[in-house]
Amino acid sequence: MPYVGRFAPSPTGPLHFGSLVAAVASYCDAKAKDGKWLLRMEDLDKPREVQGAADGILRTLEAFGFEWDREAWYQSQRTEFYESALQILKNKGLAYPCTCSRKEIADSAIASGIEGAIYPKTCLNHALKTNIHEAYRALTLDENIVFLDEIQGEIIQNLARDVGDFILKRADGLFAYQLAVVVDDAAQGVTHVVRGADLLDSTPRQIYLQRLLGYATPHYAHVPVASNAAGEKLSKQTLARPIDMRPPGHALFDALSFLGQHPPAEIKSVTPDEIWQWAITNWRISSIPKQRAIIFGD
Ligand code: GLU
Ligand code: ZN
Repeated sequence: MPYVGRFAPSPTGPLHFGSLVAAVASYCDAKAKDGKWLLRMEDLDKPREVQGAADGILRTLEAFGFEWDREAWYQSQRTEFYESALQILKNKGLAYPCTCSRKEIADSAIASGIEGAIYPKTCLNHALKTNIHEAYRALTLDENIVFLDEIQGEIIQNLARDVGDFILKRADGLFAYQLAVVVDDAAQGVTHVVRGADLLDSTPRQIYLQRLLGYATPHYAHVPVASNAAGEKLSKQTLARPIDMRPPGHALFDALSFLGQHPPAEIKSVTPDEIWQWAITNWRISSIPKQRAIIFGD
């Protein structure tokens, strides 16, 4: 089976060390297995997007010598495909409208899961409020979703108990990441997803949606995420510093070291082409630490 990997950044700020690690891991794994590597800009959440961030991320990736195999996709241009996937789920009775406010859910929830209150299915059992925009939720099952992550091992999650009926489309009309990522991974023919372990808990939701929509489930590998000493993930939200690009070898050296690849110090001062040659030839996914987070930097 041909290998198709991808990197899917959200343009909420400049590329930072945490996203560079995910980019390096997905790139090396694809190239080491003679695969294709695609780029997808996850720019669905327009209110959270930072002006110019998408172009900035592309320029930074270019400066590091990444080469993507097709033109980058932009999720903001693909809403009709998310709409038709939602329609399929609605037709099968697997997605239902919800008009509850955040406060109503917090007040009525009786159980909590890995991401807070479990939605108590109010709108499945009662009339919807009128004159209010509807959100859509996926109907989850009290059944275990099991998958084998290449780095993290066997993952088991019961969606009904651990997550609940999750959002597919928000009341403001924006499609949720969980639906968009599944539709696009399938549409782009992605066979291998290598990304940060902050998304490990989302994967069972994605596998569930793949099954409902009749898509193949890709192979998953979740690499550790970089966190600060306080245990917070280094992300655009915590305003992690943009990467220092001069010279690019330093940041790539740090990313490869973080991924347990033991690069020689000499690669800090060679060209990106030479770094990739070393990194792809010596890529060992089995050397990546099996942790969800590793403290990095200060
Ligand atoms: N867009 C997501 C992020 O930046 C990553 C999505 C994915 O790799 O599935 O965190
Ligand atoms: Zn509701």
